[in-house]
Amino acid sequence: MNNETTIKRIALFGSTGSIGTQALEVIEANPDRFSAEILTAQNNDELLIQQSLKFNPNIVVIGDEKKYLKVKEALASTGVKVFAGEKSLEEVAGMDCYDLMLAAIVGFAGLKPTIKAIRSKKTIALANKETLVVAGDIVMQLAVENRAPIIPVDSEHSAIFQCLVGETRNRVEKVILTASGGPFLGRKPNYLVNVKREHALQHPNWSMGAKISIDSATLMNKGLEMIEAKYLFNLKPEQIQVVVHPQSIIHSMVQFEDGSIKAQMGLPDMKLPIQYALAFPQRIPNKFPRYDFKKVNMLNFEEPDTKTFRNLVLATDALHKGGNLPCVLNAVNEIAVYAFLKNRIGFLDMTELIEKTMQHVPFIQKPTLEEYFESDGEARTFAADIIKL
Ligand code: NAD
Ligand code: MG
Repeated sequence: MNNETTIKRIALFGSTGSIGTQALEVIEANPDRFSAEILTAQNNDELLIQQSLKFNPNIVVIGDEKKYLKVKEALASTGVKVFAGEKSLEEVAGMDCYDLMLAAIVGFAGLKPTIKAIRSKKTIALANKETLVVAGDIVMQLAVENRAPIIPVDSEHSAIFQCLVGETRNRVEKVILTASGGPFLGRKPNYLVNVKREHALQHPNWSMGAKISIDSATLMNKGLEMIEAKYLFNLKPEQIQVVVHPQSIIHSMVQFEDGSIKAQMGLPDMKLPIQYALAFPQRIPNKFPRYDFKKVNMLNFEEPDTKTFRNLVLATDALHKGGNLPCVLNAVNEIAVYAFLKNRIGFLDMTELIEKTMQHVPFIQKPTLEEYFESDGEARTFAADIIKL
């Protein structure tokens, strides 16, 4: 690992996404601290090429093998090495040429490269929450064994992580995850039954990739984040509470044994947790807009409406039962969101599909990594069959 005076070499897995592009902005603003060493994308060859010409990485990977030649040719005059395909993602994650992986691929696809990076003793800035939802126990155990630090990028977990700095000896009573409530806060099922993808993609406070935007609209995102928090911070399910806070100024809180509560606050801007994770343990200056207490400000808090947003109930069930259930929940949720985005199923059908699939796939209390992969596959096949994908 490099020390503070040398440049941290970053591997951006998912460089063309919402997190990936914002991370490149952070890197661009701090050329004396960070370099973009590896860039990867699934489909967006145009943007990957553009990013490569600008940041001159050592290696790029394009997931879609059909696009390999196009990327290769576009970068022929540069020294950039080009790879393609799923296997290459994993191989590149194991290479020596970088220090920190920004895990910003969306969904289950992020798991294998992240595990490879952990096994290669890299520092992980983790945006891909699905990695911990699918196999959190194994991933965290591997991180301990390999002394690979995992620094959360998800804003709630970054907030908790920041609240815990300097508190290693102090017991946490509970963590309080804040939720914006998404675009349909206050709505009831008779409204939700008719909402379409364009509406669900409009988040009030954050601009994010399609999958997490739908997860925010259904509150599944908060469910996934409860499970993410359990593994990241080694908490019992009872220690994790969700509160709706529509302004997204408090990014989450930690309550200690003495009843004292620490909160981390700021304007909703993912560049802040991204920068914090890349620069950790340092804080570095930036020009991001600041929160202003002198303006008329209201901070509100309310209970989540779990009668309407039942995904949160299903995720809480998975959080408590553990085993392969969070993995199954994640797999069927990916299918459900995909089908909703393709206008194949309605908004409320997503919850029904998730519930059915969770009941169908046999429960395993302590799965191996292989069994997690199998549960993922089983859940996807069952769900895709029901909705005839
Ligand atoms: P996105 O859809 O904008 O970008 C996803 C990236 O992953 C792209 O670069 C894409 O090329 C790549 N990718 C997609 N499918 C892939 C596959 N099968 N194999 C390899 N690469 C693939 O997503 P995002 O919003 O940037 O989110 C990325 C991750 O970060 C998600 O896990 C999300 O939950 C998490 N996250 C995002 C935000 C946010 O503000 N966007 C906030 C917190 C956490
Ligand atoms: Mg979040």
